[in-house]
Amino acid sequence: MLDTGIEYLKGVGPQRADLLKRELGIFTIHDMLFHLPFRYIDKTKFHKVKDVANEGDSYQLRGVLRRVEVIGEGRIKRLVATIRDETGSMELVWFQGVSWLERTLVVGKEYIVFGRAASFNSKFNLPHPEMEEVNEENVQKAVSFDPVYPTTEKLSQKGLDVRGIRRIQKTLIDQLRPSNFPETLPDYLVEGFKLVDRLSAIRGVHFPESQKELDASVRRLKFEELFLLQLRLLQSKNTRKAVSKGFVFEKIGTYFNQFYSDKLPFELTGAQKRVLKEIRADLGAGRQMNRLVQGDVGSGKTVVALMAMLISLDNRLSSEGPAFQACMMAPTEILARQHFEGITRLLEGMEVEVGFLSGSVKGKKRTEVLERLASGKMQIVVGTHALIEDWVQFQNLGLVVIDEQHRFGVEQRAALWHKNPHLPPHILVMTATPIPRTLAMTLYGDLDLSAIDELPPGRKPISTLHKTEHHRLRVQGFMKEEIAKGRQVYVVYPMIEETEKVDMANLMAGYEALSKDFPAPEYQISILHGKMKAAEKEYEMQRFVKSETQIMVATTVIEVGVNVPNASVMVIENAERFGLSQLHQLRGRVGRGAEQSYCVLMTGFKLSSDGRERIQTMCQTNDGFVLAEVDLKLRGPGNIEGKQQSGMLHFYIADLARDGQILTTARDTAFRILENDPGLVAPEHVRLQKAINQHKKEAQIWGRIS
Ligand code: ADP
Ligand code: MG
Repeated sequence: MLDTGIEYLKGVGPQRADLLKRELGIFTIHDMLFHLPFRYIDKTKFHKVKDVANEGDSYQLRGVLRRVEVIGEGRIKRLVATIRDETGSMELVWFQGVSWLERTLVVGKEYIVFGRAASFNSKFNLPHPEMEEVNEENVQKAVSFDPVYPTTEKLSQKGLDVRGIRRIQKTLIDQLRPSNFPETLPDYLVEGFKLVDRLSAIRGVHFPESQKELDASVRRLKFEELFLLQLRLLQSKNTRKAVSKGFVFEKIGTYFNQFYSDKLPFELTGAQKRVLKEIRADLGAGRQMNRLVQGDVGSGKTVVALMAMLISLDNRLSSEGPAFQACMMAPTEILARQHFEGITRLLEGMEVEVGFLSGSVKGKKRTEVLERLASGKMQIVVGTHALIEDWVQFQNLGLVVIDEQHRFGVEQRAALWHKNPHLPPHILVMTATPIPRTLAMTLYGDLDLSAIDELPPGRKPISTLHKTEHHRLRVQGFMKEEIAKGRQVYVVYPMIEETEKVDMANLMAGYEALSKDFPAPEYQISILHGKMKAAEKEYEMQRFVKSETQIMVATTVIEVGVNVPNASVMVIENAERFGLSQLHQLRGRVGRGAEQSYCVLMTGFKLSSDGRERIQTMCQTNDGFVLAEVDLKLRGPGNIEGKQQSGMLHFYIADLARDGQILTTARDTAFRILENDPGLVAPEHVRLQKAINQHKKEAQIWGRIS
């Protein structure tokens, strides 16, 4: 029954079915049942007339009809009635159906009245209320919630307005039985988690009789949705692990040990050690590693990646075969170059050949890099997308490190898999955009996750301040003080595609103003934006890196990774226009040295409530994971970066921003069940596998889940 096309439903027919498909994506009865109310009109209690106090709120009254009167003529003809209870009387008005209502409403009778309060001549009235005579059945019915369904104008014109859809749902729900709407969860889970059964839940979510019933139904359906998804993700992860053989890096050899004992300039943090251990376990397991390392800006991901690369260099394809190579890929030229330089510096004095490759490496230099990679002489290469190109061949690539995951698409990642003809190389993805745990579990459900959730010791937390135009002079004074101490300053402007022209103008105006307030030759200012050529960018960046300039005016092109430890002030203009994770990324450009660093958020006077919360949150915490949670709450999961890659955030009832607790339970439960019964073949689990397959089928039809 559930797979039946919606056109076969009584009261729908081909024409409306067509609209339902196009407007709401409802193809089958199953889809209709999961087209859930987005709110409910609360009719669970009766109000008194004196309770009517807010325009726009809905009220349910019960009283005696006092007067029914037609007033006016023609287009302004209306029916006015009065209902009265022991606390007062309320006017009711209708502009349509006047003569029919005049005939049916009976003065002196008791009615249940439901409507939304309007105010007229500083008195409340109820326009077009629903009217029911008071009798036992109606009173009982009145004590309920009325579901309100999403619909569209076109559908409403064809009779499928909120009431029309409500009618269809009612008919459908009345036909449901355990036989045609079976339980999907094993009984022990339903009992163990005190869930309501599936049939009661779908009833309770459409036509709840109490808040309690609604809550329990919602909870059950959310759990089911998240649980089935987690089962799927974990199953596919298990399958992948079972089939995707990988190189075994069993040895910790000279390179790693020499680096660890002679070169590493600091003690690793506990978190770095833990993640390195996780990586080592992966590399030795005989399966391809697919690990995502999340770590706040400055948490020290690079050195962890480098040590993983050294393990790669320490191992060979076979006892006589070539040693493994490693590559690191970054999303921008600037960042790739910084990684290259940083790694070269860390490895100074060690016999490791490190190269650089990007689109801008041309001619003889390029040929040389390519040759040395193919012959295996070059052991590590750092670069941009250029590394993916077909003509980049390795002698024996063992490990790929990808920095800043969200800028690379899934296919790009996959292209690297074929760079070694024997087996796919190990993949280590690093991101400095902490993703809330709940989201990560879903988005990257088939990757292994590590978190470097601790900063190296001795870092002074960046102090973040909120300032407006008022304080501009003081902010400039402060910048001058810091510059006088030998520090450097970033000033960042928003650059958003849709408003690019205006943003560009703002950036240039800001640059000119700064040039006046910070005059040469005492002050030197760099400028950096996306419209500049790579070489120009590089030049400006280098001037700042070498402290030849004290101020860097830039757009978010500097967001990713740039490392200038001497910079201690980050001024963000129009800070309210940035998202939280972006603000946090920008702030991460300072606080990299020993000095106290500052982030100044400049905004207009007026802020939206979301904007205000973002700014306040920034001022309160430096913890990227906390910020990510707030971001998820404010923006909803649909807008989190990286989501586009997965296309699987289409939930019919679950809400990742709110349902973290349920998701964690769902994931843990799925994990435990699969541990004991990976194929879900136990009799109590057969229905689960069936539900997952159903889920998959729908997903394919709708393209909901990749
Ligand atoms: P990110 O995680 O943002 O990529 P980096 O790897 O660039 O961070 O590290 C930031 C800075 O911290 C670098 O200068 C690095 O040398 C330093 N660093 C990394 N780990 C430690 C540590 N355990 N102790 C002290 N400094 C460290
Ligand atoms: Mg980094």
